[in-house]
Amino acid sequence: MSTTRQHAIVIGGSMAGMLTAQVLSSYFEKVTIIDRDQFPEEAEIRDGVPQARHLHVLLAKGLEIVERLFPGIEAEMIANGATTQVWGQDTTMFMERGWMPSFESEMKTHGISRMVLEWLVRKRIRANNKITLTERTIVKRLVTTDDKQRVIGVETQMKGETTTRIVEANLVADASGRSSNAPEWLTGLGYEQVKETVVNSFLGYASRWYKRPPTFPADKKMITIQSLPPKYLSGGVIMEVENGECIVTLAGVNRNYPPTDEVGFLEFTRNLLSPAIYDIIRDAEPLSKVFGYQRTENRIRHYERFNRWPDGFLVLGDAACAFNPIYGQGMTTAAMEAEALGKLLNEYTGRSTAGMTKVFQTRLAKVIETPWLMATSEDLRYPATEGEAPNWRIRFVQQYIQRIIAIMPDYPEVADTFLHVMNLVQPPTQLFRPGILIKVIISLFSKKKAANPQSAIPSTLIHPQS
Ligand SMILES: Cc1cc2nc3c(=O)[nH]c(=O)nc-3n(C[C@H](O)[C@H](O)[C@H](O)COP(=O)(O)OP(=O)(O)OC[C@H]3O[C@@H](n4cnc5c(N)ncnc54)[C@H](O)[C@@H]3O)c2cc1C
Repeated sequence: MSTTRQHAIVIGGSMAGMLTAQVLSSYFEKVTIIDRDQFPEEAEIRDGVPQARHLHVLLAKGLEIVERLFPGIEAEMIANGATTQVWGQDTTMFMERGWMPSFESEMKTHGISRMVLEWLVRKRIRANNKITLTERTIVKRLVTTDDKQRVIGVETQMKGETTTRIVEANLVADASGRSSNAPEWLTGLGYEQVKETVVNSFLGYASRWYKRPPTFPADKKMITIQSLPPKYLSGGVIMEVENGECIVTLAGVNRNYPPTDEVGFLEFTRNLLSPAIYDIIRDAEPLSKVFGYQRTENRIRHYERFNRWPDGFLVLGDAACAFNPIYGQGMTTAAMEAEALGKLLNEYTGRSTAGMTKVFQTRLAKVIETPWLMATSEDLRYPATEGEAPNWRIRFVQQYIQRIIAIMPDYPEVADTFLHVMNLVQPPTQLFRPGILIKVIISLFSKKKAANPQSAIPSTLIHPQS
C-alpha cells in the first residue's frame, strides 16, 4: 500500500486551493496547483472568482490560521493598506433594538479587499519553491488505477488547445469551488451520486465601491445594518478597505434582490432598518458601477456518506460545502479544513494512506457543523427560504439567538461573546454560559420596545467626528 508523498495536485488556485497547497507542501515533495485562469500579476479581478468584487471579511479565526500558514502575512496586509478593525470599537451594527454598544474587545480583523488578500496569499504561494502554479489549464477528469479504487492523477487541457495530458500524483485535492465537477467525475468512475443538503434563502448581493466619504465616521471601519426576519428582508454593510476606498454591499433575502442601477441601489440603502449607510454614501464619490451576485445558497455535498471512496482523492472548500456569504464563513471554513487536512497527514505519516481521504471527508463534515448550523438556522427564519423545515434543535437555536441579539444593546459582554462566536473563535456553547443564560431568561420577562430606526442613529453616524 502506498505511503509515497512525492506529488500532490490541487484543482483550483483560489483561497481554498492555496491554503490547501500550503499545508500539503509540508508533507509532499512537490505540490501543483492547477487553475483555468491566468492569475493577474497585480491585485485584480479574474474570471474564476467574480465574487471578489463584493465585500469579503476574513473572520478572526481565518486570520489566525492564515497567519499561522504564512507567518507575517498580517503585517503585509496592513502594509498594503488594510485597515484594522477592533471589534466593538471600529465596527458597529444596527439591530432590532438599536446600535450595538461600544466595548473593549481584543478581537480584530482587517478591512481588505478580496483581490488584495488573494494576491498577497498568491505571492506567498509563488515564493514557496515546493509549489508550482499551472495556469490557463482546465482539469477535465480524474485518472485512476484500473480498478478505479485509487486516484493517481488528472487529465488536463490548456485553454485554447485541443490536446490533453495526464499529470500523475499521489494525492489530488479538488478545491474548484461551487462549480466543481467532482460529482460527475465520481459517477463516471462508478461511484455513487453525491447527496446534497441545500438551504436557499435566495439572497442577492449588490456592491459598489466608493471613495471613503467624509460622512463615514472617522472612528468606524465597518458599519452593518442587520436584516430582521421575517419583516426586514434586507441588510447592508459599509467597510473601509485599502487606498482610502470603501465597499458598500447590500443584501436582500427571499428574492428581494437589491437593484444594480444607481438610483435603485441608493433607494434600497435608504430603506434598510436604519438609513445610516444611505446618509454616509448619498453624496459619496462612486469608484465603480454596481455589481450584482445571486448564487448564494448553502450547499453541502455529503462525500462523507459514500460507502466507497477512492483513495488519493479529496474535496474541500466551496466544492464540498458553500455558505450563504452574508455570514462571511467561506474562506475561514476553507482554512479550518486545510488545517484539518494537515493534522490528518501528520497522523498518517509513514503509514499506508489506504482509507485516509475517506477519513478526511468525515472530518470535514465535523469542521463544517458549526458554521453550517449558524448560517442555515438564521436563513431558515426567512419565510420563503427553501430547505428542510427546521427541527427542534434549529428552532431552539433560532429563538435563543434572537434573544441574544435583542439584549446585545444592553450588555456589551453578550455582544462581545456573540461576535467571538460569529468569528468562529469561540464555540456557540459560550452563548449558553450561566452569565449569559441568566440575562436571556431575565429578558424574557422584561418588556422592552423595539428601537425607532430613525431616532436611534447615533449622532456620530450623522455628523462624522473630525
Ligand atoms: C458574493 C460573495 C461574497 C462572499 N463573502 C465572503 C466573506 O465575506 N468571507 C468569506 O470568508 N467568504 C466569503 N465568500 C465565500 C468565498 O468567496 C469562498 O468561500 C472562497 O473563495 C473559497 O472558495 P474556493 O477556493 O473553494 O472556491 P472559489 O473561490 O470559487 O475558486 C475556485 C477556483 O477553481 C478554479 N477552477 C474551477 N474549476 C476548475 C477546473 N475544472 N480546472 C481548473 N481550475 C478550476 C477557478 O478558476 C477558481 O480559481 C463570499 C462568496 C460570495 C459569492
